[in-house]
Amino acid sequence: MLGLLGAALAGIVVFAHDRIKQNALRHIERTLDSRNDVAKLYFLDRLGKYEVLPETLASSAAVRAALQEPGPASRHEANLALSEIAGGIGVDRIWIMDMEGQVIADSRWKSLDAIIGRNVAFRLYFQDAAAGRMGRFVGVGSTSRTLGYFLSRPVIIDHAIRGVVAVRISQPFKDFEALLWKDWEARERLTLLADANGILLMSGIRAWTFRSIGVPEPDRLAGLRRSLQYGDQEFPSLAMNPGRTIAPGMRFVEFAELPGKTFIQKAYDMHEIGGRGYLHADAEDYWPTVAVQTGLVALAAAALFLAACFLAERWRLQAKLVEAAIRDPLTGLHTRLYMQEWLHDAINAHARHEERGFSLLLFDIDHFKSINDTYGHAAGDDVLRGVARLINSCVRTEDLAVRYGGEEIAVFVRLAEPGEVIQLGWRIRDHVAQSGIMTSHGLIKVTISGGIAAHAVGETAAELFERADKKLYEAKRAGRNRVCSQWEPEGSGMRP
Ligand code: GH3
Ligand code: MG
Ligand code: MG
Repeated sequence: MLGLLGAALAGIVVFAHDRIKQNALRHIERTLDSRNDVAKLYFLDRLGKYEVLPETLASSAAVRAALQEPGPASRHEANLALSEIAGGIGVDRIWIMDMEGQVIADSRWKSLDAIIGRNVAFRLYFQDAAAGRMGRFVGVGSTSRTLGYFLSRPVIIDHAIRGVVAVRISQPFKDFEALLWKDWEARERLTLLADANGILLMSGIRAWTFRSIGVPEPDRLAGLRRSLQYGDQEFPSLAMNPGRTIAPGMRFVEFAELPGKTFIQKAYDMHEIGGRGYLHADAEDYWPTVAVQTGLVALAAAALFLAACFLAERWRLQAKLVEAAIRDPLTGLHTRLYMQEWLHDAINAHARHEERGFSLLLFDIDHFKSINDTYGHAAGDDVLRGVARLINSCVRTEDLAVRYGGEEIAVFVRLAEPGEVIQLGWRIRDHVAQSGIMTSHGLIKVTISGGIAAHAVGETAAELFERADKKLYEAKRAGRNRVCSQWEPEGSGMRP
């Protein structure tokens, strides 16, 4: 019973531990999700604002004229128009290329870093747009040497691609990067932003920018270096060691360069820039919470178990007390206390229904004192126990055998028919007389005498006992080892 409770409580603790873990994890996930929302608002949505700009430019008159009617005049017009637009909406640069990849107009035409006349045919943004697609990629500018977002579009005139227009935006990168640095430096919140090749474009830890997560494939690395997408970076690898996955998309990670720290990491797809964001929470926020809360549940379970043990012990004692009150410890027969209850009910029932009569057979062991005197008290106890067992074996379960006095045994039977009761009395007498009881002194033969009285309606227990006792006394006087009843003449004691 207690074992079952213990197992159930252990089950509850295990279940609670699981729920607590899930809750702690959900809490961490929500925090990471809201940080991701900030990244989206602060960075990706700002980039998205420029999405339609190349398209607008590709259909503008100045851009089309520069490609359709090449010449100094149309290009000058284009330079003017581009610089006006770029200044107005805060982009770094807008430029137009012909189909050879030659830059023919530049919003920064007036400044020292103007790129007019340069060939950019090797750049992906040119190749994508020249092939008729929208170009969108993140890379390091060949002149600015800083990270930016490149958007490009083909310029289509009379159903033919005649050139490419491109835009470069870097301010959202700078702002977002500053936010990530502050997040790490002030609050140890680590965010990493990687491209599709696992190259870190941005990192809360400044030194990790342009590191490569894990060991990159040599082919890809060579390709990246050749395209100059990120200038002349070397992409040294960063050891990010993933641990156990704790929920879909969430896992533990450690970094070789941050020894002793464990993070819970969630990866977010950032399709806008063709990469992934890795947001981290300190695992310290997870384990202690889980451990403390699980500990509390376990403590409560242990307290419950102890309380149950205490109660069980009390119940056991109580049951023992009840048993002791209703069973005689030596003979195993019922006690007088129990008999009183039984008699009370039986007398009441008899008062209500005349046919519910019952009889009392009162037995006493003959010359019991001499057994004690001859063999000792312990052997006397054995004999008493044996006689009780012999008498009890003659009564049915609905009847009642009681240790009434020292070696007096009262038997109540639900019989009132004289012939039946007298016969039962003699049967018990015979059974004892013929059996004998095995003791440490060998087989001891004893006899019993009995007095019988049937309960009369309205009679008290004391009156009934008095009548049975009188008949028992008659049996003793008539020579013992016999049974006398109310239905026989006084002192007869003969077998009917
Ligand atoms: P009789 O009834 O035949 O007249 O003779 P008796 O020797 O049996 O006389 P009585 O019934 O008066 O004696 C009862 C004796 O039973 C007295 C007591 O020492 C003994 N006795 C009572 N209770 C116990 C008991 O629990 N164990 C033992 N060993 N003896 C008991
Ligand atoms: Mg006696
Ligand atoms: Mg006796």
